[in-house]
Amino acid sequence: MTPEEVAELRARRYNGTVVHLQKVHSDLLVMRVRPDFARPEQQAGQYCTLGLGFWEPRVEGCQVEDLKPDELTKVVRRAYSISSSVESEPGKLYDPSLTDWLEFYIVLVRENADGRVPALTPRLFALKEGDRIQIGEKVAGHYTLDPVQPGDNVVFLGTGTGEAPHNYMLWSLLSRGHTGKILSACCVRYARDLGYAKTHARLMERYPNYKYLGLTTREPGLTKKVYIQDLITHGELEEHLGTALDPSTTHVFLCGNPKMIGVPTRDKKVGTVTYPQPPGVIEILERRGFKADVSATKFKGNIHFEEYW
Ligand SMILES: Cc1cc2nc3c(=O)[nH]c(=O)nc-3n(C[C@H](O)[C@H](O)[C@H](O)COP(=O)(O)OP(=O)(O)OC[C@H]3O[C@@H](n4cnc5c(N)ncnc54)[C@H](O)[C@@H]3O)c2cc1C
Repeated sequence: MTPEEVAELRARRYNGTVVHLQKVHSDLLVMRVRPDFARPEQQAGQYCTLGLGFWEPRVEGCQVEDLKPDELTKVVRRAYSISSSVESEPGKLYDPSLTDWLEFYIVLVRENADGRVPALTPRLFALKEGDRIQIGEKVAGHYTLDPVQPGDNVVFLGTGTGEAPHNYMLWSLLSRGHTGKILSACCVRYARDLGYAKTHARLMERYPNYKYLGLTTREPGLTKKVYIQDLITHGELEEHLGTALDPSTTHVFLCGNPKMIGVPTRDKKVGTVTYPQPPGVIEILERRGFKADVSATKFKGNIHFEEYW
């Protein structure tokens, strides 16, 4: 493709600018995108799409991609939760009315276990500040704080970049002076994958009702080598929360890896519930009296979830 053809496609297909791009490390980034249109209305926890053309360069070290000529002019889009750095500067909660961008927290998928070549993230990671991108005009999703009442305890459990919507919801709770306890745990491979760790450390100092737990599965020492499910079954989550996991006063939000979440199959006619194995958090908590959402309209429980794949 000629540079002129690429320039024409970018001009025609893109509607946003990368105004900030921070590589936490080579495979993890925080990015802010300013849409050309008025920033859409949004609730903390929701998502929108980002897209780039197949003509864009990819970072090295990713699964080899073999494109057909007619695919080259297409745009690949994926859903991304809107994240938040919570503070605009240390000690000051972010004021969205003073900004015109949306923040995203994205991990590079270098290779797919199912053989499908990851299309978007190898291209997102080749972006620089000032580059153009496609951003969805609609913000959507039912993974929000709607069911949370003032004074409820709120537990956010995420894997990897599944922390993104929790950061935005945390900002929302802190901004509205939420009085219940708030705990956010995020499970990653290595401590360096906790991209917002410094912010969370500061927030814990300022807000006595807030606790952040970084969990690593491949690096004991700095943090604990533990999975989220173990944290609950061993009673540590309650210790950190400082109170019992009481279904009548607690909302649990689960985001990221579907294995951690463990959405069951419910056969309404027969009345059976089959949980995936090994157990995810939904099974562990439903056995303790919690109820997971069935869908946004059918049944809203006290376990809410967003699966990333
Ligand atoms: C509602 C929603 C919100 C999302 N928000 C985010 C977000 O805020 N940040 C983010 O990084 N991703 C997020 N995702 C995942 C995102 O949409 C893409 O699937 C991901 O970025 C990979 O895109 P790709 O084209 O490079 O690879 P794809 O071809 O889409 O590969 C998908 C595969 O990559 C792996 N994968 C996808 N997402 C992740 C992830 N986050 N961590 C580890 N492995 C993953 C899985 O094995 C999955 O099968 C979200 C997904 C959904 C449905």
